[in-house]
Amino acid sequence: SDPVPVSKVAAISQYACQRRTTLNNKNKIFTDALEILAENCEFNENERSYVVFARATSVLKSLPYAISSMTMLEGLPNMEVQPRAIIEEILEDGKSSTVESLLCDERYKATKLFTSIFGVGLKTADRWYRLGFRTLEEVQAAKDLKFTKMQKAGLMYCEDISSFVNKAEAHAVGQIIEKFVHKCVPNATVTLTGGFRRGKEIGHDVDFLITCPEEGKEEGILHKVHSLPQGLLLYYDIIESTMEKNKIPSKQYDVMDKFQKCFMILKLNNTLVQNTEPERQIESKDWKAIRVDLVIVPIQQYAYALLGWSGSRHFERDLRRFSYHEKRMNLDNHVLYDKTKKVFLTAKTEEEIFAHLGLEYIEPWERNA
Ligand code: ATP
Ligand code: MN
Ligand code: MN
Repeated sequence: SDPVPVSKVAAISQYACQRRTTLNNKNKIFTDALEILAENCEFNENERSYVVFARATSVLKSLPYAISSMTMLEGLPNMEVQPRAIIEEILEDGKSSTVESLLCDERYKATKLFTSIFGVGLKTADRWYRLGFRTLEEVQAAKDLKFTKMQKAGLMYCEDISSFVNKAEAHAVGQIIEKFVHKCVPNATVTLTGGFRRGKEIGHDVDFLITCPEEGKEEGILHKVHSLPQGLLLYYDIIESTMEKNKIPSKQYDVMDKFQKCFMILKLNNTLVQNTEPERQIESKDWKAIRVDLVIVPIQQYAYALLGWSGSRHFERDLRRFSYHEKRMNLDNHVLYDKTKKVFLTAKTEEEIFAHLGLEYIEPWERNA
């Protein structure tokens, strides 16, 4: 077919929430490289450069074609000097030497490894690195390191957790969670969110929202998690809600929300998982440790929580940036506040939230920004 004349092509928005980004990434060779650089900026707490790499990555993921020359970057938003240089390197050599040397960098490797452990953040990873540790074996054998309860669990099940969760496993976990929730409150609902809702085949955890048609009934559910079948719960940590009535969302783009939630590790029996490959079943261990997040949401905030927990992280970040800069509205996982009219905007569905923001609706599987 004839190429569409450039003048007829709608300009690509600088905001991820105005682009449709499916998992069909035509520019993986570039985005894989740029994501490693973005991640390294986070490790170095270099927020400005992180944003530059993350935004360029996200634009490339949304393109329906592969970039094959530098001139094809013309007219694209968010293509700053740093990412352009990496794209140019890859177009010329098929790889980026900057990325290759970073992948061999001691600090990058150690930080990547340590922060992959449940319960280990940048601070801890950096402390371990500065103490001279480079491998998990060294950390685990260390005599005078103190670990939190969360880190102990993270280290104990690190092999399973770092091997990723697949769709069949996520489904099996969903059935366990539903059964438990319905025993507590028969008409409560459990919704799969996070990466799996966006259509991803694998994830680092499984995320669920729990809500109830009658407000307040959801409140006691998490404190009954110990009643899950014996041995199923390998670890859990309940974070209590810190919600305040009529709180105007802050303008920060990367904020934790204030719902009651539970971070857990479940012991998933392989026999509960459909299509488990036979090789896996003859292994000595017939179970796998899986990371699960449960979020308890009052029904009036449900649409905002669903939008906020469906991700991707970059999509969420740009939704908030768009709201703030283009609409003078503050968005978080609880509510949307219109600063001009000084009102909170309620919504029953995600569609209503996009409409409040004057945005075209973007389906969950188009939010892989
Ligand atoms: P993965 O497959 O790696 O799990 P994911 O997109 O599901 O990818 P998560 O880290 O599980 O990533 O988070 C899902 C979404 O929920 C993200 O958009 C993230 O911004 C949001 N989120 C995660 N944790 C919190 C939290 N404590 N408070 C508010 N939002 C959160
Ligand atoms: Mn997730
Ligand atoms: Mn999660």
